Amino acid sequence: MLLKEILSRVSAAECKVGRAEGSVKLIAISKVQPNERVEAVLEQGHRAFGENRVQEAQGKWPDFKARFEGVELHLVGPLQTNKARAALELFDVIHSLDRPKLAQTLARLAHETGSCPDLFIQVNTGEEPQKAGILPAEADAFIADCCALDLPVTGLMCIPPAEEEPALHFALLAKIAERNGLPGLSMGMSGDFETAIALGATHVRVGSAIFGQRGV
Ligand SMILES: *Cc1c(COP(=O)(O)O)cnc(C)c1O
Repeated sequence: MLLKEILSRVSAAECKVGRAEGSVKLIAISKVQPNERVEAVLEQGHRAFGENRVQEAQGKWPDFKARFEGVELHLVGPLQTNKARAALELFDVIHSLDRPKLAQTLARLAHETGSCPDLFIQVNTGEEPQKAGILPAEADAFIADCCALDLPVTGLMCIPPAEEEPALHFALLAKIAERNGLPGLSMGMSGDFETAIALGATHVRVGSAIFGQRGV
């Protein structure tokens, strides 16, 4: 099974750069995957999963959560403000805090409900117009604004441009996190998670390398 292989590649990557074993969390990105594949990974004891759409997650995770103890669910895709309340109820961690309006909505809901998932701020390191995220030049101010709103920001997240060397983007994200005192780095996917671990990733988001190709 692929999960085991990916877990051992994560351990090897930690070891190679002298990082403690288990310091990187592997999030299995289960979006669009058939339930049988997700269930097989749950059966093997894995508990950290990620989805990119609230509605899709609402369709499958309440049932899995009822059947498997200790599931930790991560939202890694864009969050519309009108789905924020549903996201707060279902997800333990949100990796896609990407704009002031969403920060304000989350702060209001957190105040109202008395709880909030851990948050990663998404940074558009490639400054791609079609991609979500705060621009690198605006990141410091946005992080400060989120802290002023009392949001539990634990780190930064990025999705590097497909055609560029990911290491440059991972290094930039790590630099912004460090100068802002944020410990978490959500970076690295199926094709580049070992590079991300070498550059300090604390959370890697791996989909197809665990489950197989989506839509097949
Ligand atoms: C789909 C997705 C992943 C996983 O991608 P793979 O290439 O299948 O590993 C990681 N992060 C985000 C934000 C995604 O949407």
